[in-house]
Amino acid sequence: MRVIEKFVSFQGEGLWSGKKMAFIRFYGCNLRCPWCDTDSTADYTVSGVKQLIKWVEGTYTRHVVLTGGEPLMQNNIFDLIVGLLNSPWVDMVHIETNGTQIFPFDYSKLPEWHDRIWLTVSPKPPTYFMRLETEVWGSYKPWIKEMKFVVDEHLTPDIVRKHISDKYPVYLQPCWPHTENFIADIHKRFSAVNGDIRLGIQAHKYWKVD
Ligand code: SF4
Repeated sequence: MRVIEKFVSFQGEGLWSGKKMAFIRFYGCNLRCPWCDTDSTADYTVSGVKQLIKWVEGTYTRHVVLTGGEPLMQNNIFDLIVGLLNSPWVDMVHIETNGTQIFPFDYSKLPEWHDRIWLTVSPKPPTYFMRLETEVWGSYKPWIKEMKFVVDEHLTPDIVRKHISDKYPVYLQPCWPHTENFIADIHKRFSAVNGDIRLGIQAHKYWKVD
């Protein structure tokens, strides 16, 4: 598996913000978002599944975040998630996907893992949902725990409304760096949307940690 970096830090996004977690950031993504945190030209190291599980266990951290890049593009991602879930040290595996890759877990065969897999779906502008109405979206449905939109001028209330659910919250996360009026701007544009929408602020950027 191609890994750019591994580190322990505080989750700065979404429902688990503030929780200390072990992060594995994978190399490679099929998108090219201008604000991307990941340097697409960065060096990566090749690590095996067992090596990564051993590293996680050595951190004594119970929550693991698989991020990127696009983690679902890694060949052995299924084996890694299964291996982590079978580790006595790991309580929960968080996966953040850009919404373009199938999540390779069949819920009908693995329902016991439902509460230990935290799938964050974060489609990106300008298309946001182009592929989410497909088999890809179907693979997320049983597992998704939160949706996160990076907000730019392409995100409309109608797009957000399409994904309002009583099963997961929808985060609206403005691009970094934040403008002076970003909260007022989000409020003005999306306050008419009914449902569980929340402001996401990438708190780790304010904390100045990874
Ligand atoms: S989807 Fe995520 S990892 Fe891929 S380019 Fe966009 S921000 Fe970067």
